Amino acid sequence: MALPNIIGSYLNDLLLLAFPNNCLACSGSLMTDEKDICFSCIDSFPETHYHLSADNPVAQHFWGRVPLAHAASYLYVRDGNMTQTMIHQLKYKEKKKIGVKLGRLYGYKMKQAESLFPKIDLIVPVPLHANRKNQRGYNQSDVFAQGLSEILEVPYEPNVMKRVVETVSQTKRSRYERWENVEGIFELSEPDKIKGKHILLVDDVITTGATIESSVTTLLKGENVTVSVATIATAGR
Ligand SMILES: [Zn+2]
Repeated sequence: MALPNIIGSYLNDLLLLAFPNNCLACSGSLMTDEKDICFSCIDSFPETHYHLSADNPVAQHFWGRVPLAHAASYLYVRDGNMTQTMIHQLKYKEKKKIGVKLGRLYGYKMKQAESLFPKIDLIVPVPLHANRKNQRGYNQSDVFAQGLSEILEVPYEPNVMKRVVETVSQTKRSRYERWENVEGIFELSEPDKIKGKHILLVDDVITTGATIESSVTTLLKGENVTVSVATIATAGR
């Protein structure tokens, strides 16, 4: 049901407007040792655990399209769940701190012994076009990269690649047109910085995977480069 979700999201926005330091997922008040997201929300995050499985659905999504070492998403997103609320706060409500927080939380998961992501040299966010970035004031994938970088103790580099074509909203296009639409939209600006490196490419939500595929293709133009992918969310549950 779309309507209650819209109302829920609207109420959440109103509550956070009135109490800007409350939990960014449930808008409830935070205890003194809680920051940005309450412990209860973190405990009930809809986690995919894809970082532990080489043939997870996100990895499979890219099979036969682009060669990746590994691919994973942290959380499931669906209409009305807390991931959707958090992404909404991150992208449209100027809450960039939630991106950093989610990056840190996923960083700890990736550090687990069984994780498939042990040896990353550099973290690169999928770039936004300059116009879009100026509009929002930041790139939502940059802040996720920052959080990951802190915990994994691996540098992040937002400028190795840039988005040279500003694409229009893709929601109304057919799947085929969406693929066409992202062909060649990125340009490798600093190939020396990625030479010989295993790059973790990060984005907010994976939808068709077309934008990520286009970014991977661009990064692979670098010399002796390996790419893995991590996103905050993927559809499901
Ligand atoms: Zn909460």
